[in-house]
Amino acid sequence: MTRRGHCLCGDTRWAYEGEATWACYCHCDDCRRNCAAPLVAWLGVPLESFRWLGQPPKTFESSKGVRRHFCATCGSPMGFEADHYPGGMHLYAASLEDPETFQPTFHVNYQSKLPWLQIDDDLPKYDGTLLTSPEDPKGYK
Ligand SMILES: [Zn+2]
Ligand SMILES: [Zn+2]
Repeated sequence: MTRRGHCLCGDTRWAYEGEATWACYCHCDDCRRNCAAPLVAWLGVPLESFRWLGQPPKTFESSKGVRRHFCATCGSPMGFEADHYPGGMHLYAASLEDPETFQPTFHVNYQSKLPWLQIDDDLPKYDGTLLTSPEDPKGYK
């Protein structure tokens, strides 16, 4: 199955085959500021099943070895890669063409959750991030 996503203006698009490796919410300050949003919903896919479509994204190195991709036209955040998470592309679940099908399974960096954000799900809530093996279904950035 091919899943697709796109930015606000539609110039930058992506697709991946198969299933996401993991799906979660992140409450860290970097993700918040990158998206100007109180939390970010992420999914991870293997690089070999991922491809950019349309206009290639621009890339901002937010810290050493961390690359955040965004649409060169409209500025929408589009992807995340890091040297310390080799082989994976992290995608913003809200960019999916059908974001309502996204099923997050845990929270990370929950210690940074904004106090005015109300969360009432029963998902596991972790402080910090998890182990990063691409094979770990809970592996995260
Ligand atoms: Zn765009
Ligand atoms: Zn984060």
